[in-house]
Amino acid sequence: MSLLIADGSASLDLINPADETVIRTIELNSIEQTDEAVARAVAAQRGWAALAPADRALALRRFAAAVDSHVDELAQLEVRNSGHPIGQARWEAGHVRDVLTYYAASPERLIGQQIPVAGGMDVTFHEPLGVVGIIVPWNFPMTIAAWGFAPALAAGNAVLLKPAEWTPLTAVRLGELALESGLPDGLFTVLPGRGDVVGERFVTHPDVRKVVFTGSTAVGKRVMAGCAAQVKRVTLELGGKSANIVFADSDLELAASSAPGAVFDNAGQDCCARSRILVERGVLDRFLELLEPAVAAFSVGDPLDEATQMGPLVSAAHRDRVASFLEGGELAESEIAFRGSAPTGAGFWFAPTVLLPTSPTARVLTEEIFGPVVSVVPFDDEADAIRIANSTEHGLSGSIFTNDMRRGIRMSRAVQSGNLSVNSHSSVRYTTPFGGFKQSGLGRELGPDAPLAFTETKNVFFAS
Ligand code: NAD
Repeated sequence: MSLLIADGSASLDLINPADETVIRTIELNSIEQTDEAVARAVAAQRGWAALAPADRALALRRFAAAVDSHVDELAQLEVRNSGHPIGQARWEAGHVRDVLTYYAASPERLIGQQIPVAGGMDVTFHEPLGVVGIIVPWNFPMTIAAWGFAPALAAGNAVLLKPAEWTPLTAVRLGELALESGLPDGLFTVLPGRGDVVGERFVTHPDVRKVVFTGSTAVGKRVMAGCAAQVKRVTLELGGKSANIVFADSDLELAASSAPGAVFDNAGQDCCARSRILVERGVLDRFLELLEPAVAAFSVGDPLDEATQMGPLVSAAHRDRVASFLEGGELAESEIAFRGSAPTGAGFWFAPTVLLPTSPTARVLTEEIFGPVVSVVPFDDEADAIRIANSTEHGLSGSIFTNDMRRGIRMSRAVQSGNLSVNSHSSVRYTTPFGGFKQSGLGRELGPDAPLAFTETKNVFFAS
């Protein structure tokens, strides 16, 4: 078995966020069970790395095929566990298949160099690290996991995956599919568990050679500090406070109609959410006039309805945190411009909300909300837009709307962010690199070079 079932010493009731019913009780793994999984991964990795590259590629293609034939099942599971709308969840499962397929080509393309030297021959090799621990958050449980495990496996490593406490079900199913598709026993193990138990053990265990952590900046700092004790390799994908910058010379209809999706998709629980819309002052009123009907039309409701664009928030605790941004003293520094609608009754619902902050230090402008709340802020000119956009320690994503190509080039170079799009809200393509500036992260995932982040470069000189 590649899927460890914990011993029952600790368990968690998983709640469907759309109706608050218990869907399953999941056993949580202990430190001892994590250690056992590491030992099995160490053993499995040796054989995996020794396989012919073409055989590793074939095994990953078979894993991708198994995901492909379970897209609907995985999507249904994500709807119930995470509250994602069914159309989005189906896309996510398909994305996992595509990421696996893309990196299935990598084992045969980890090409080293032959470097000219005197007295012999010099060659570089890309050696796998060994065992990699991947820790993921609850907002995109399947896709973010695949961004780590697919290139890590392709590069010849074994993988331990720790899903977030509340959303482990699709990760567990992916672990089963890996095994059913023929991946070696112990090579890819999914370990549901607590962050401060299983996650911390990835950080402290000497046989885990790299940790890939996606989550909050606060926990990311702790993971990085823990890894430093062993000079352990670490990739961090952390929080965001991204800006959507709209110039007067842009297609305002396009900018306004696409703005709700850029922040309310996945109920705003998206590290790339454009939670600050910066609008050139002269077109602010017109932009708000166009934005209001677009927000009203954003359909919030039953995640199983194909027409739904936004489901509930993931948990009651998270809904309360998002609500805290609109309560009491917080509203002294912001006005509510308008809100969309959301169901009432059971479920962790929250209506899409548009705010007009009255102070540049308003909490809604400085903290990641991770919910369907967006602030609209006017700016005076290009320099002012750059100043406001960069006035945060985050730097993950962002958009620039302008019909002036030269301005688009200037702005895209000036905004301090790892992923920008001009006249669109595109954030993630598995064929292109993804990651953050400043406190939004360290290192890059995805794109053609991702497997290299799971290798060490070895240089060998052969005397002639
Ligand atoms: P979180 O930091 O609370 O938890 C993330 C993961 O870390 C979970 O699996 C959790 O169990 C684990 N964890 C908790 N404490 C740990 C510890 N001491 N040691 C090791 N692991 C530990 O984050 P969250 O609330 O699950 O997710 C939301 C955050 O994730 C947001 O800040 C969001 O921006 C960020 N995020 C970033 C990206 C990105 O690619 N940059 C993508 C998605 C989400």
